[in-house]
Amino acid sequence: MTVAETTVFETLESNVRGYCRSWPTVFETARGSWLTDENGKEYLDFFAGAGSLNYGHNNPVLKRALIDYLMNDGITHGLDMSTVAKRRLLETIRDVLLVPRGLEYKVQFPGPTGANAVEAALKLARKITGRTSILNFTNAFHGMTLGALSVTGNAAKRAGAGVPLVHATPMPYDGYLDGLDELAWMRRVLDDSSSGLDKPAAVIVETVQGEGGVNVARAEWLRALADLCSARGILLIVDDVQMGCGRTGPFFSFEVAGINPDIVTLSKSIGGYGLPMALVLMKPDLDQWSPGEHNGTFRGNNAAFITGEVALTHYWSDNRMELDTLAKGERIRQHLTTLTTDFQGISTRGRGMVHGLVFDEASQAAKVCRIAFELGLLVETSGSTDEVVKLLPPLTATEDEIGHGLGILTRAVEIVRDAH
Ligand code: PMP
Repeated sequence: MTVAETTVFETLESNVRGYCRSWPTVFETARGSWLTDENGKEYLDFFAGAGSLNYGHNNPVLKRALIDYLMNDGITHGLDMSTVAKRRLLETIRDVLLVPRGLEYKVQFPGPTGANAVEAALKLARKITGRTSILNFTNAFHGMTLGALSVTGNAAKRAGAGVPLVHATPMPYDGYLDGLDELAWMRRVLDDSSSGLDKPAAVIVETVQGEGGVNVARAEWLRALADLCSARGILLIVDDVQMGCGRTGPFFSFEVAGINPDIVTLSKSIGGYGLPMALVLMKPDLDQWSPGEHNGTFRGNNAAFITGEVALTHYWSDNRMELDTLAKGERIRQHLTTLTTDFQGISTRGRGMVHGLVFDEASQAAKVCRIAFELGLLVETSGSTDEVVKLLPPLTATEDEIGHGLGILTRAVEIVRDAH
């Protein structure tokens, strides 16, 4: 095996670098579900840019549209000026995403990261209600800026803030109390004026906690949460940064529960091609921003508007993508379920095309990921103790690719078990 030349990363790039440590090679090209390193070794990508590449790497339909746009000298950086690309995107969001689902939202372009969309959502909820506190959930992940960190669970990530993270109170997520009614506590403290909990501006929730370990909230729990919020005048923010854009089957992950959140954050795959873009959707009466009140230099990534628009038109104008994702997801679920009966000490959970393989002995998850890498499969851990191997294949992965990836995963689990 050729050893990759990595000196400049080790000597010049900050110690903060992360994924390159899990996958110690130097990647050069990528296509569809595959990455190729500079030595020509191919890796099947079941991480998909942490959910930013739902349509695969260098998707040819999106690439064509992007090249044509650039060759035509289309606007690349547009602040938040009105552009043809933005008009096309907004019209497509309206016609492909909102109207067919009976959803009414205004669309905000924050800075192009998930964390910035979360910051905007929290600021807006506070502005609208005049309240300061937010309720979040155990094991939540919402990003690395201070506001987003304040509603994130992970202690190590929180510690990086360097200042107290305040104005957020964690509540137990669905399943956190092993079968007890997790919402009972929240209901009780909200309704008791002596509980010590200030009335919150908003609740922020992921329908499936991606970073938190692929914890799946049941549809009935999400409905009960939405009812609880609306009955008390608390805004409901669904952070769909990782689980939106079709990851769980339907375009919006909350569709399974039939709820209508007040505010929705989107990023990762909304730009389609892996180009940065983020959106905040808010019910029209909640659009109480003043002009420029949440601005930012890179809100107008028009190249991402083009690939985002073409992705929506191409993949979401009918329900094929959703059905296909559910079918492929079911196949993954069945395979993982078989694995859990063949091997001791593992379990599985997931929805659509996000699945977790959960190891009773947490350290085994990282070992499986390392061996999978050696065998040519990219998967990463998640969860509070990194006990979960998380599978996020591109939604466009073929049946063959899914079978191939699951085969490598099974082999990696076997190797870890045999070494035990
Ligand atoms: N919210 C959720 C649910 C996420 O999964 C992430 C990223 N993993 C973020 C927010 C933050 O997104 P970004 O890394 O683009 O800031």
